[in-house]
Amino acid sequence: MDKQDIFGQIDEIEERMGATYAELGALKKRIIILIEENKRLSIENQQLRKLIRQEETIVEQPVGEAEETLPLPGAGYDNLTRLYNEGFHICNVYYGHLRTEGDCLFCLSFLNK
Ligand SMILES: [Zn+2]
Repeated sequence: MDKQDIFGQIDEIEERMGATYAELGALKKRIIILIEENKRLSIENQQLRKLIRQEETIVEQPVGEAEETLPLPGAGYDNLTRLYNEGFHICNVYYGHLRTEGDCLFCLSFLNK
């Protein structure tokens, strides 16, 4: 095998590795999008379930007792804290996006308010 062959082969491998690397990057982006979409849908699902439960309770109960089913003050803050701990942004800059780089200063300053 002469030198030209070897360098030709190395070039080929280099090219394939570049393509594989690009493919990997694209896959990573798609996975992030899917995880974010999944989170949005599961939150929406939760909210819809809550609404359905409230509707049912309002229908079942006399009008005066309906306010018992309203969310407690501070529940929103707890939900945001949980969302952040599950790895998502809650700041108004990247809200709902996956935190791929660890802690976010915008989110943390919001949580510390
Ligand atoms: Zn953030």
